[in-house]
Amino acid sequence: MQARTYECAIIGGGLAGLCLAIQLADQGISTVLFEKNQYPFHKVCGEYISMESHRFLGSLGLPFEDLNLPVINQLGISSEKGFMLNATLQMGGFGISRFSLDNYLSQIAVDKGVTILQSCRVNGVNTTEKGTYDIETNHGHYAAEIVCGSYGKYTPQFIGQNDLDTPKSSGSGNFIGVKYHIKTDLPANRIELHNFKDGYCGVSKVDGDRYCLCYLTTAKNLTKNGKDINTMEANVLFKNPFLAKYFTQSEFVDANPLVISNVQFKKKCTETNGIFLLGDAAGSITPLCGNGMSMGMRASKLLANELVPYFGKKQSKQRAAENYHRTWNEAFNTRITAGYYLQNLFGKRNTTDLALKFLSKTPELMSKLIGLTHGDSF
Ligand SMILES: Cc1cc2nc3c(=O)[nH]c(=O)nc-3n(C[C@H](O)[C@H](O)[C@H](O)COP(=O)(O)OP(=O)(O)OC[C@H]3O[C@@H](n4cnc5c(N)ncnc54)[C@H](O)[C@@H]3O)c2cc1C
Repeated sequence: MQARTYECAIIGGGLAGLCLAIQLADQGISTVLFEKNQYPFHKVCGEYISMESHRFLGSLGLPFEDLNLPVINQLGISSEKGFMLNATLQMGGFGISRFSLDNYLSQIAVDKGVTILQSCRVNGVNTTEKGTYDIETNHGHYAAEIVCGSYGKYTPQFIGQNDLDTPKSSGSGNFIGVKYHIKTDLPANRIELHNFKDGYCGVSKVDGDRYCLCYLTTAKNLTKNGKDINTMEANVLFKNPFLAKYFTQSEFVDANPLVISNVQFKKKCTETNGIFLLGDAAGSITPLCGNGMSMGMRASKLLANELVPYFGKKQSKQRAAENYHRTWNEAFNTRITAGYYLQNLFGKRNTTDLALKFLSKTPELMSKLIGLTHGDSF
């Protein structure tokens, strides 16, 4: 049977893939998106989105006016010893659960004509004699002229090795991420980051009456605590008095957290075997910077800017790949590197405490550091 054919195929329907699909569909480019899960679904993510992507999401059709999302412009960072640095966020952000956001975007994409295949895992991509791609999924074969990989932080086997060198820092180590939704007592305009040994935990409001509590720590920390999340939380996270309070005095909406392992923060590449990569698939920033989602969305815009002229026969695929690679590096190189180094100041009992005390006395330096990991509104 003839494989169904599209101009563009997108592997992975997180923010990067969905935003790219919407922009291509807006330009009349026939697009199929494969997502191995079924919307709506939860994801491990701090769910704080920096304001840099607010306008962009609005331009794609996200109905901000109906959503009543918390706008966040105050930051608190605590040390395990109980010191709290308070700062105003110049750009700030807003909170929305991935359950809601990815679902809204998938509906917008479908309304604009994108074919979204859910519960559909891509297992292989091969080039054909005609120079197009054959995409092998658990729902059969599909054909496309261009393939984009927005499959997130775990590189599928069929892509092969695509890591680039990263700075020698703990930023590229092996982490786990844990997320709960809770009901708690925290001003809706405030995000807090609480340090503990070998990790940090964010708390901020999302849509509805919920807060997202999400932490990152080393896989080693979990192993040392008998591979038991609750034991680790009691032994390690509760040493920070703010976290002890959140864990013992909040209502946990779900009994069990969502957990992911093998998390690494690495710069990868923007193209491999002719497949364009975006979002975490091309490289991820440490979550303390709070803008991995905005980076994925911005990358989708940079890539759409190159694919639209390609499909309009105004530039070659090679030129599109070169331009995308250049603009991606211009947009993200500095902030990814800054994120790796900043993470080294976090999750240490004495160093973190001293660093926070110093930064609390140098607010200009503090806002410069935040600025290094963020971009302008797009
Ligand atoms: C602990 C933690 C906290 C974070 N907190 C924040 C935060 O507060 N703010 C922020 O901006 N960023 C945060 N981030 C980063 C942010 O979550 C990511 O940068 C963002 O989700 C990347 O989006 P994406 O579209 O590239 O990937 P994803 O959102 O991961 O989407 C990838 C999609 O591809 C699908 N997929 C994968 N393989 C296949 C396949 N073979 N076939 C079909 N589908 C496939 C997956 O199911 C998934 O839905 C955090 C990250 C971590 C680990």
